[in-house]
Amino acid sequence: MESTHSIQPKVIVLTGASSGIGEATARYLAQIGYRLVIGARRTDRLKSLQDELRAQGANVDALALDVTDLADVQRFADFALQRHGRIDVLINNAGVMPLSPIAALKVDEWNRMIDVNVRGVLHGIAAVLPVMQAQGCGHIINVASIGAHAVTPTAAVYCASKYAVRAISDGLRQETDVLRVTVVSPGVVESELADSISDQAARAQMREFRRVALAPLAVAKAIGYAISQPNDVDVSEIIVRPTASAH
Ligand code: NDP
Repeated sequence: MESTHSIQPKVIVLTGASSGIGEATARYLAQIGYRLVIGARRTDRLKSLQDELRAQGANVDALALDVTDLADVQRFADFALQRHGRIDVLINNAGVMPLSPIAALKVDEWNRMIDVNVRGVLHGIAAVLPVMQAQGCGHIINVASIGAHAVTPTAAVYCASKYAVRAISDGLRQETDVLRVTVVSPGVVESELADSISDQAARAQMREFRRVALAPLAVAKAIGYAISQPNDVDVSEIIVRPTASAH
C-alpha cells in the first residue's frame, strides 16, 4: 500500500463514522490497510463497525466523539497521537442537514448546523494542526457538498455552512506549504442525512431531490484517491455526483 510518510500505513482520524459516507469511508480505508481512529456520538454503531473491521484484520479504534465540543475533539486527536505517534490525515466528515425555509425560524436547527458543520470542522483543524506542523506534513480533508457551490430554497443555512467549509479549506491551503487540504463535495448520496429534517414541506421536497443517489462508497473512493497522491500533490477539490442527476 502507498505511504509517503513512513514505512507504516498512514494514520487517519475520521469524524462521523457511524453511518453513511463516514461508515463507508472507514470500511474502504481500513480495507486498504490504513490505521484508523473513528468517532461519532452513536457509540453502539461505532463499536460494531470497529469489531467487524478488526475481525478482518484492520487496525481501527472507535471513540465517542461530539465535534461541537473542542475538548472532546482534542481528546480524540490526542488518542490517535498517543496510539500511533502521528496523525497523517484528518477527515472532517461529520455533518447534519435539518433543512427548512428561513421563515420557519428554526433557529435551534440553524445553530446545530453551524455548530456541527462549521465549528466541528474548525475544532478538527485546531486539534491536529500543531501535530501536522511539527511533523512537517499532513492532510486535512473536509467534506463539503454541492450545496457549497449553489444555494437552493430550504437549504440556505446548510449551504452557508458548506460554503464556509470551502472558504476555510481554501484559506488554510493558502496559508501553509506543508499541509495538503482537500474539499470533497458530494452530490446526493444514500445516507441518513435527510432523516433529521423536521420541516414537512422540506422533507417532501428532499424525497424527490434525493431520488437519484450515489452509494457512499463512491465518495469513500474519492477520499481514498486524494489520500493516495504523493505529498507534493494537493487534490484541492473533488465533486462527486450521480451521473443521472442534474443537481
Ligand atoms: P449521515 O447522517 O449518514 O452521517 C452523518 C455522520 O455525522 C454520522 O456518523 C453522525 O454520527 C455524525 N455526526 C453528526 N453530528 C455529530 C456530532 N455532533 N459529533 C460527531 N459526529 C456527528 O450523513 P452523510 O453520511 O450523508 O453525511 C456525511 C457528510 O457528507 C456530511 O458532512 C454531509 O453534510 C455531507 N454530504 C452528504 C451528502 C448526501 O447526499 N448524503 C451530500 C453532500 C454532502 P452520530 O449521529 O452518531 O454522532
